[in-house]
Amino acid sequence: MTNIDLVIRAPRAVVDGAETAASVAISGGTIVGLGPVDAPWHAAAERVLADDEVLIPGIVDTHVHVNEPGRTEWEGFASATAAAAAGGVTTIIDMPLNSIPPTTTLDALELKRSVAAPKARVDVGFWGGAIPSSLGHLRDLHEAGVFGFKCFLAPSGVDEFPELDAVQLRSAMEEIASFGGRLIVHAEDPRHLHEDAPGTDPVAFAGTRPDAAEVDAIGAVIEGVRATGVRAHILHLSSAAALPAIRAAKAEGLPLTVETCPHYLTFDAAHIPAGGTQYKCCPPIRDEANREALWEALFDGTIDIVASDHSPATADLKLAGDGDFALAWGGIAGLEVSLSAIWTGASARGRTLADVVGWMSTGTATWAGLEAKGGIAVGKDADLVAFAPDAERVIHAGELHHKNPVTAFDGHALRGVARTTWLRGTAVHGEGAAGNSEGRLLLLGT
Ligand SMILES: [Zn+2]
Repeated sequence: MTNIDLVIRAPRAVVDGAETAASVAISGGTIVGLGPVDAPWHAAAERVLADDEVLIPGIVDTHVHVNEPGRTEWEGFASATAAAAAGGVTTIIDMPLNSIPPTTTLDALELKRSVAAPKARVDVGFWGGAIPSSLGHLRDLHEAGVFGFKCFLAPSGVDEFPELDAVQLRSAMEEIASFGGRLIVHAEDPRHLHEDAPGTDPVAFAGTRPDAAEVDAIGAVIEGVRATGVRAHILHLSSAAALPAIRAAKAEGLPLTVETCPHYLTFDAAHIPAGGTQYKCCPPIRDEANREALWEALFDGTIDIVASDHSPATADLKLAGDGDFALAWGGIAGLEVSLSAIWTGASARGRTLADVVGWMSTGTATWAGLEAKGGIAVGKDADLVAFAPDAERVIHAGELHHKNPVTAFDGHALRGVARTTWLRGTAVHGEGAAGNSEGRLLLLGT
């Protein structure tokens, strides 16, 4: 084997769903060899991982709100992708809101691509948006390479991204099914969302967006999938009450997939401090038994993948109303800590790092159709992380690379640190990282 740029020797690596010793040979950004830890390869550079580090494939986070252009003060591609790299995330797929314009037209997609390209430190793909005005024009965005289409069934929080009503949902499903695309759904039924004032009480806030909102919305999605055959995905499942319907739909063979997020698997409403609006998100964080039921559903495959739903805003908006949950902006910033948060919760429940890689890298990459991502295997991109699973740290929001120093994870102790992150064999975080923007823009099917 000639022209190897870098060999990484790892006494511990997650390969094919199990932990093993391995060496990885990288040439031109691609994994060209996978062998024993002492494989006789000579390369321009060599890195031997420490005994407390595990080599894993980079995390593929399919749910990130970058908010650029238009609300770049909320995040932006430079800070989002720096945070991703620091957290062991090598691919993000950007949500079509809350940027202005939202990614609902070809022009808006082109604008996003042009602002992301010079700044991306990790690879970036894009979701399109299905809103009333984009229905009938979705195939164009699909052919331009978006990974699928996001819609809301309840108000999104921003005027430029209206929700679909029941009739519009069905027509979006028919349209997307006609070209084999995917619909991803924020599933809350607005008829169940209450206007009562929760004040500073996080449990009362959860009560304003009850389980029934998710259960009924997911029921409508399942019905539409059955009628149209569209591939549909439930974003950020919060309510375990929807699990029986999801299990039944999957048993029926419907093309339905489901994600949940680190915050739903980490927190519960009773332990959120009064006025702690950094924990506000929609659907809301519910009780402890609900959280444990979500973990069980992840373990048994009812929930397919975990994504961050990194949805930051400025500190002014997140903390608006002095702790009043009705007035603060909803959305949790968690991109940089998502791997550590899931590893913390999974390891406490007896699960392995290979499981975490399955939910957040292999699973998300496969689900999104990113064949070059999500594993340590010959032919894949050399997107890799030297992860120290036993290192512990207390998260301080101001020390993260997110643009705004507000996160629900502030002050919480998490296990696991991404010491070095490589994107196609180039260090983008940790030892050897030059801080340059190596990220590429990804299109569906490439
Ligand atoms: Zn989101």
